[in-house]
Amino acid sequence: MRVLKFGGSSLASAERFRQVADIIKDKSQATKVAVVVSAPQGVTNHLVAMAENISDEAKLITDLGHFKRAITTIIEDLATSLPEFNAHHCEQALINYEHQLQRYMQGATMLTYCPDHIRARIISTGERLSVAILDSVLQALGLQVSLLAPEKFLFTSDSSLNAVADLVLSKERFSVEYEKLNQIALMPGFIGMSIGKDNEEGTITTLGRNGSDYSAAVLAVCMQAECCEIWTDVDGVYNADPRMIKEAKLLDYLSYQEAMELSYFGASVLHPKTIGPIAQYHIPCLIKNTSNPNAPGTLISNENDQQKRVKAISNLDNLTMVNVSGPGMKGMVGMASRVFATMSRENISLVLISQSSSEYCISFCIHSADMQQAERSLKEEFELELLNGLLEPIGLKSELSIVSLVGDGMNHQRGVAAKFFSSLAQARVNVVAIAQDSSERSISVVIEQRKCTAAMKVSHQNFFSHKPELMCF
Ligand code: ADP
Ligand code: ASP
Ligand code: MG
Repeated sequence: MRVLKFGGSSLASAERFRQVADIIKDKSQATKVAVVVSAPQGVTNHLVAMAENISDEAKLITDLGHFKRAITTIIEDLATSLPEFNAHHCEQALINYEHQLQRYMQGATMLTYCPDHIRARIISTGERLSVAILDSVLQALGLQVSLLAPEKFLFTSDSSLNAVADLVLSKERFSVEYEKLNQIALMPGFIGMSIGKDNEEGTITTLGRNGSDYSAAVLAVCMQAECCEIWTDVDGVYNADPRMIKEAKLLDYLSYQEAMELSYFGASVLHPKTIGPIAQYHIPCLIKNTSNPNAPGTLISNENDQQKRVKAISNLDNLTMVNVSGPGMKGMVGMASRVFATMSRENISLVLISQSSSEYCISFCIHSADMQQAERSLKEEFELELLNGLLEPIGLKSELSIVSLVGDGMNHQRGVAAKFFSSLAQARVNVVAIAQDSSERSISVVIEQRKCTAAMKVSHQNFFSHKPELMCF
C-alpha cells in the first residue's frame, strides 16, 4: 500500500493531469494506492483572495473569474485531448462548487466577516475540484476509483486554519473507511475535521497553506503505508532551493531529522508538519518528479549517509525579529514565560529564539504577517513595565531572513560554524542573531533579507563546490 501525493505544480494543466493519471495507473498495477491531491497551481490563491475580500464586490467578481478560468481551461483541454473524458461531469461539479462559493460569500457578507469554518470551505474548493477532474481522467482510462472523504477520518485537535491532526483518533476512524476502498482511492488534501467539543459536531478546517503534504503523511500513518510518495516539480530535495542556486545538487537520502529541519527552515518542497507523523511511524517518504518519473528521487527515512557533514542549506524569508529588553528583565523570574505565553495566546509561532546571557534581552523571530498582532499583545501584557521604564519600547526589525545549514553529520565537527561565518563575511552580510540547537544538526543565522541571495550563494559555493571561486559582493 502506498500513498501518492500530487502537489499543485503537478496539476497545473491538462497535460499534467494526464501525467499524474499515468503514474497512478502504473503504480496501482503493483499495489493498492491512495492518492492525495492539491488544488491546481494558483487556484488556492484566488480562493484565499475571495475569502479576504468579501466586502469588495468588484474584487470578488475578478477573483471568481480567475478561479473559474483556471479550472475551465483544464477541463476544456482534457476534453480535446482525451476522447473518453466526461467533461460534462466536471463542468457540473464546477457549477455546483461555484454556487456553493456564492452562498458562502453571501453568508459572510451578511455577517460582515468570514468565520474560519466558512473560510476553510472556501479555500479548499480547489482540492475538491482536483478530485472531480482526476476521477474523470482515471475513469476515462478505464480505472475504478473510490473517493475518500477527509471529513470522515482526518480529525484535528483544533479548528484553526493551520490545524494539527490527532493521529490516534484519525487512525481509529480510518479503519472503518478502509474496508470500502478500491485499488485506487482519491482524497482531497489540505482538509481536516476538527473534533467537536461537548458532543457538538466538529467543523471543516484546513491544515495550513501547502498542507496537502501533511494530509498525505497522516493518511500514510492511517493506512500503515509502505511508503509516502510526494510528487512535485523537481527531481527531489536539493542541497539548496534550485530556484535560487543554479548549482544546487540533488540529494539521494535524507534522515527524518534533516528533512524536518530543512522544511522548517524554508525548503518549501515539503510542508514542515509532514515529517512528524511519518518519522513517528517509520514510514519512508520518497520525493519524486511528476514530469520525470524515472528519476530515482530523494528518500527520507531512518537511513542516512553519515559521511556528509553539511547536507544542505535553506532560507526562510519575510521574518521579523522582536526584542523585549530592559533593566526589568534582569534576574526577574517569569519574564520569558510571560513573553512566550503572550505569543502562544495569540497563536503566533516563534520561528527562532535567542536570549542574551545577561538576561537583558529576549529576541525571537516571527513571520512578518504576525508582527502587528505581536506588538499589540506584548504592549498590553507589559503595559506597567513599559510605563515604569523597566522595559525599553518593544523592538521590531522586519525584512529579515534565516539562513540555515543542516546535516546530521555536523555534530562534533569543528570548523563548520567558522566556515559559515567567514562565508557570510565574504558575502558582506551582517549577522543579526544566531541559533544552534543542541543536537548540532542545524546552525541558523538571522540576516537582512536583501542580503539573503548573496549569503546563500557564497555559503553554498564554499560548502558544496569542489572548485571554489572568488565571489565578491
Ligand atoms: P507542489 O506544488 O508540488 O506542492 P511546491 O512548490 O510546494 O510544490 O514545492 C516544490 C518547490 O520547492 C520546488 O519547485 C522548489 O523550487 C522548492 N524548493 C525549495 N527548497 C528546495 C530544496 N531544497 N529542494 C527542492 N526543492 C526546493
Ligand atoms: N492548495 C493548498 C495551498 O495552496 C494546499 C496545498 O497545495 O498543499 O496552500
Ligand atoms: Mg507544496
